[in-house]
Amino acid sequence: MPWLGAPVDNREMLERSLRAVWHPCTQMKHHELLPLVPVASARGAWLVDFEGNRILDAISSWWVNLLGHGNPRINEAIVGQLRILEHVMLAGFTHEPVVRLSERLAALAPGNLGHCFYGSDGASAIEIALKMSFHAWRNAGRTQKTAFIALENSYHGETLGALSVTDVPLFRDTYAPLLGNCVRVPSPDARRAEPGESARDFSRRCARRLESHLEKHAHETAALIVEPLVQCAGGMAMYDAEYLRAARELCNRFEVHLIADEIAVGFGRTGTLFACEQAGIAPDFLCLSKGLSGGYLPLSVVMSSDRVYEAFYDDRLARGFLHSHSYTGNPLACSAALAVLDILEDECTIERNHGLAGRINAATGALRDHPRVAHFRNQGMIWAFDVRDAQPDFAQDFFARAIAAGVLLRPLGNTVYWMPPYVIGDAEIELLARTLEMLMQGK
Ligand SMILES: *Cc1c(COP(=O)(O)O)cnc(C)c1O
Repeated sequence: MPWLGAPVDNREMLERSLRAVWHPCTQMKHHELLPLVPVASARGAWLVDFEGNRILDAISSWWVNLLGHGNPRINEAIVGQLRILEHVMLAGFTHEPVVRLSERLAALAPGNLGHCFYGSDGASAIEIALKMSFHAWRNAGRTQKTAFIALENSYHGETLGALSVTDVPLFRDTYAPLLGNCVRVPSPDARRAEPGESARDFSRRCARRLESHLEKHAHETAALIVEPLVQCAGGMAMYDAEYLRAARELCNRFEVHLIADEIAVGFGRTGTLFACEQAGIAPDFLCLSKGLSGGYLPLSVVMSSDRVYEAFYDDRLARGFLHSHSYTGNPLACSAALAVLDILEDECTIERNHGLAGRINAATGALRDHPRVAHFRNQGMIWAFDVRDAQPDFAQDFFARAIAAGVLLRPLGNTVYWMPPYVIGDAEIELLARTLEMLMQGK
């Protein structure tokens, strides 16, 4: 498949990439053995390499792609916007895509989160939410509120502020001396329940641990940050919505902000547009990214309440929120996000996903009884199971064998998961299920 007129094959692309590109989340030396996967083009749920081989994107390209690659409506929206306005700074200026997107998100989000502050990616949204929470309290004269609470096993991104509230030792430990003030409380991860204890009861027990922490430390705590319903990067840990209800109640009672990081779980991943809906709660800050632009362009947003907004509204410059990113509210990214919202609405995607999820459960259900499979779990359009007696190199090995079978699956430690784009079809589901079974028959 020629590219820029030059004949390119997989091997050449791979070699040039390893010379010139430093890849993310990678020990580059491992690529001496493990080949990179060069992608020439993509359509729907499929990636295509430079030799025409197809790979099923069962993890939506790191969870960003909701509606398929090369989606005609999103393509058209971006091209249309490109003809009008590619970018303008958002400090002192405004434009139609950012206004329309903010209005629509405010109408869709739970509660009263009418103020949209934009960032470039998930981590920058977390930085914004943390700084905003601290600064709102400071503006209210509560200068002691400098600490944050996160759940054990949390993941909120890898810039220094976001890493401070992240609890993945591999990402965090090296940089610990650089990180900010964060306390971890027990995760309501249902796998950690005692035998005979329901996920709901375990959630309540974890909430009591949060409560006793707040009883002592609320006066010095700015916010609790959570990944609603599913802690994704921490191993697809799923928990009962009761925890979110309890956390909301405790944050109200102890005057602590609740930050909902729906960067991974927003836009239908958990079965509802936003995961918080399943608990019937609204956070003080809602962070969105990943699926926001359908996996097309970097874009994130932090939505906040009138109460937070008003804490900054003042004649004095320094009481304002003076944070910025150069590409804040980029019109092309906003137009992609508007197209995503149009599609979700016009095609009733989230409703239709219930049927789709049923078919995926039926096709992959046999794995539940596999002797090496533990904790097979599903929430909306996210599936995961843990592999018993996994070797230390399990994840890399499984990934390589999956690619060889034409499916992109990238386990987190010993947790295998799939989180396909919402356009996955029946033949593709069959391929996914057969491949999972085949891979579990191996080592
Ligand atoms: C991916 C992710 C982030 C960070 O987003 P980036 O765009 O990778 O910086 C933050 N929070 C959660 C829950 C995520 O899954």
